[in-house]
Amino acid sequence: MKIICIGRNYVEHIRELNNAIPSEPVFFLKPDTALLIRNRPFYYPSFSADIHYELELVMKINKVGKHIQKQFASSYFDEIGLGLDMTARDLQENAKKKSLPWAVAKGFDQSAPISRFLPKNRFSDLKNINFHLDLNGKTVQKGNSGLMLYSFEDIISHISQYMTLRTGDLIFTGTPAGVGPVKIGDMLEAYLEDEKILKCEIK
Ligand code: MG
Repeated sequence: MKIICIGRNYVEHIRELNNAIPSEPVFFLKPDTALLIRNRPFYYPSFSADIHYELELVMKINKVGKHIQKQFASSYFDEIGLGLDMTARDLQENAKKKSLPWAVAKGFDQSAPISRFLPKNRFSDLKNINFHLDLNGKTVQKGNSGLMLYSFEDIISHISQYMTLRTGDLIFTGTPAGVGPVKIGDMLEAYLEDEKILKCEIK
């Protein structure tokens, strides 16, 4: 399986990192070795001094598809969860400056803690899903799927023009504003609507 992540999908987050609003979805990959499941702790890696959290809605792909038209895209996922796109911001900024790839900054081991998944039919309106992240009990990120520049369907359609989607692939849909650093001892807790479905202690 592969993990595909959308960058720059919420205007407020684009502004906080001084990036430009993209004319089409920007995406990058994490390897399957980035996955961190079952609320296991995240071990702060020695190669970075500036690891950031980015809470994102995640779609789980349920069948193979390529060149998917937007009007059929919603049938390619039936579960939604939450994921943390853990980012070595210092390595990413360095890569950006040198126009180098983000593979290390975004794809290192454990850089993709994910929650369990919920059936998407639990949500009456996919364009109005609330989610938020608490850091040590204080809310630091609040998102709503209605604020995404590119919808779930836009994203599936776009990615599948270039890469075949397969059952089990995960798509991180971008982070809202409020990203920030973690330190050892921190506790991240993520909520989909009001249900806590992801927890990640930084060790
Ligand atoms: Mg992200």
